[in-house]
Amino acid sequence: MPNRRLSSEELIRANALLNSIRVRLRKLAGDDEDLRFAYRRKVYKELIYDERGKPMARRRLKALKRTEQGEICPLCKKPLPATYCVLDRFVAAAGYTTENTQLICQACDVMTQASRGYRERPPVGGEEEAGTVR
Ligand SMILES: [Zn+2]
Repeated sequence: MPNRRLSSEELIRANALLNSIRVRLRKLAGDDEDLRFAYRRKVYKELIYDERGKPMARRRLKALKRTEQGEICPLCKKPLPATYCVLDRFVAAAGYTTENTQLICQACDVMTQASRGYRERPPVGGEEEAGTVR
């Protein structure tokens, strides 16, 4: 199921919201570039958590899925590598739940994303396993 897209009117509203957040961040930090960086980083991380949940919860879910799947990638049927596995959501907006995810290997993730028309995953700051940002 494709992700919900914003209409052109919704996109205008989203950009207005983004601009107002930028203005508020500038106001909040004044001339302190480091403080503005820290505020921006905090807001960024919290918004990402709103969508993806906290890293600890995702790590727990990954371990659960690995066990449930018998350490096998459900797409290629090969053993899951110890690292570089990806929690794939069937429906992105439905979040990281047991029912909505499968743990897949990196090669299958690349193919899955390509087939869904995604060029790359959105960047996520410094957490999660190396190489995958999901
Ligand atoms: Zn695979």
